[in-house]
Amino acid sequence: MSDCIFCKIINKETPADIVYEDNNCLAIKDIQPKAPLHLLIIPKKHILSVDHLDSEDKELIGELFLVAQKIAREQGVAETGYRLLFNVGKDAGQTVDHLHLHIMGGEKLFFA
Ligand code: AMP
Ligand code: ZN
Repeated sequence: MSDCIFCKIINKETPADIVYEDNNCLAIKDIQPKAPLHLLIIPKKHILSVDHLDSEDKELIGELFLVAQKIAREQGVAETGYRLLFNVGKDAGQTVDHLHLHIMGGEKLFFA
């Protein structure tokens, strides 16, 4: 998707602070962090949202959680705890239409 900001980051056409990358996904620092640690784990496949997942994405979606676990350990929040979040659609406040898993931690998170 040529006009998708996350595809541009994946294709290295737009800079981002990349903290992890493998064949299927990458993790970047959120540009407007809402916690001391706020990263986005982004599959390289352009999928609009959780609502657009297909049965063929089953393995990929599982991988995102295992990457989250690995990053949480590397970033030192596994023991103190962290939040994983997908916003899906308008009412949830999804602003980028390319699937991404938020990982937030580093302090007590009070919001729901
Ligand atoms: P969501 O509201 O779930 O769609 O989250 C989109 C997130 O992407 C927000 O937290 C934004 O701050 C973040 N974001 C948008 N553009 C960029 C960018 N170029 N680099 C890093 N994070 C971004
Ligand atoms: Zn995209």
